[in-house]
Amino acid sequence: MSKRLFVSIAPLALVSCATVPAETAPPTDVGTVASADPRAAEAGMEMLRQGGSATDAAIATMLALTVVEPQSSGIGGGGFMLRGLPDGSVESFDGRETAPAAAGADWFLDTEGKAKSYRDVVLTGLSVGVPGNVALAKLAHDKYGKLPWAALFAPAIRLADEGFVMNPRLNGSLEGNIDRAGADPLMRATFYTEAGDPRPVGTRILRPELAASLRAIAAQGPEAMYGAEPAAELAATVAAATPLAAGMTPSDVSSYRARERAPVCGIYRSYRICGMGPPSSGGIAVLAMLGQLERFDLAALGPRNPQFWHLFLESQKLAYADRELYTGDSDFVSVPVEGLVAPDYLARRSALIDPERAQSYEAGVPEGAPQARADGDEPIENGTTHFVVTDSAGTMISYTSTIEGGFGSGLQFGGYYLNNELTDFSFSPAKDGVPVANRVEGGKRPRSSMAPTLVWDPAGRPFLMIGAAGGSTIPVQVARSIIGVIDFGMSLDDALALPLAMDFGRTVVVEQGSWLEAQIGALEALGHQNVRPASPPFRAVGAIRTPDGWRGRHDPRLDGILDPSQKGA
Ligand code: GLU
Repeated sequence: MSKRLFVSIAPLALVSCATVPAETAPPTDVGTVASADPRAAEAGMEMLRQGGSATDAAIATMLALTVVEPQSSGIGGGGFMLRGLPDGSVESFDGRETAPAAAGADWFLDTEGKAKSYRDVVLTGLSVGVPGNVALAKLAHDKYGKLPWAALFAPAIRLADEGFVMNPRLNGSLEGNIDRAGADPLMRATFYTEAGDPRPVGTRILRPELAASLRAIAAQGPEAMYGAEPAAELAATVAAATPLAAGMTPSDVSSYRARERAPVCGIYRSYRICGMGPPSSGGIAVLAMLGQLERFDLAALGPRNPQFWHLFLESQKLAYADRELYTGDSDFVSVPVEGLVAPDYLARRSALIDPERAQSYEAGVPEGAPQARADGDEPIENGTTHFVVTDSAGTMISYTSTIEGGFGSGLQFGGYYLNNELTDFSFSPAKDGVPVANRVEGGKRPRSSMAPTLVWDPAGRPFLMIGAAGGSTIPVQVARSIIGVIDFGMSLDDALALPLAMDFGRTVVVEQGSWLEAQIGALEALGHQNVRPASPPFRAVGAIRTPDGWRGRHDPRLDGILDPSQKGA
């Protein structure tokens, strides 16, 4: 069974958002946090009120999300964090999971050398990468933390110790998902009744084992995760679930390092846009889509014009053809980052677009292009969350955190879910005899789509922080939101509410139930094929700077499924 099919039959985890409730989060002197869960946003706000930096608040938010949004992210997974300043400087931190040293070309192959199915590997140790979020947090905190390390853990520990209220979103994610979310006896007992039903909305959920892990990491630092003893225990847990002779080893865990990476930046209509570079494809894809659209007067077309959606779909296809061929972990493969986002290259790519007719595109040949093959894998996952923070100094943080699929691998260690991030690798190491950039290699990071993004306005002032969950749809969601704000002059609320159309290769998905559905005929008339309505997990979170200060906003698709009574629970 293909990965996509498996995902589409799994219950929608309804990732992401609920921010600081959009209308009740007035700008404050201390800053703003917008996240997928108001309780996690409140954890970040608590740090800001204590005089913490945006980095402190982001880490506290990530930790609290581990507790209250276990379907989407956590310390058993990884993430990317962008940090930008009002002066335009920007840095990025990479806490992406790594493959065990033993992993190689045959990691996802069966005895006949054929790629196994996603379903066969996802709930095993084969899918688990060494978690990176705690190492990322330490790297960032050492540089930019103001509060003591242990203070960042207090809200998450409190939520895990005292419990938090089951909300409709978590309840919905658990529904019909006991094989994954309840695969481990501890998690089953935590989230399900004895009869195997998700604990009802409103139930207080306690997570004492997770509280103990958080307490240990608060007291001892990352040593409590990557030190000899916990590393051996974590590796043994994963190895025991790995159907190969060699699995994760203690040194895989203890040798994990978060990295600082060069962000990828570009200019779109005089706005400066910075995103995450390799091992993510997110920043490159966002800049490519925007750069290829710059020659068109999108503002004149407007969002309700099928011509705009046609151009957007064409730009997606161009960007994703390059993404599949060239992007991967740049520690292992050569990724021509600068070439892929160079304005003259994007202008050449854009020139291929026929405003009157849909086409298919091969990858281009940017400056520095190596020889490689595309793998064509297009996952839509739902184990990810995005959040943004700004502090009183105007620091901007855009952080996407993930365990890959909803509830990750279903494996549990220390009271938290372990990721299934390694399924973001290409399962086949080569295509037509040529290695694919995103093949499995020991110690390598799988390619990501995550796109934490920061935008400065034409005057160079901080303007927008944005990101999303939703696997391969993430860059498209981010580009759509930026176009909404910059080209269509929309409020962030309206930009996030815009429907989406995405080209998935064999099909073009138009968001079900949206007004865009009425344009399917017009898109077909422009040559788009297999256009069908569907509801992929489109979920973006962001904040925009207004004359009255920063405003955190979430995707309105979550309205109505968040229980306001959970706030501060
Ligand atoms: N693991 C995916 C990535 O890094 C994200 C999955 C999701 O958004 O749910 O691209």
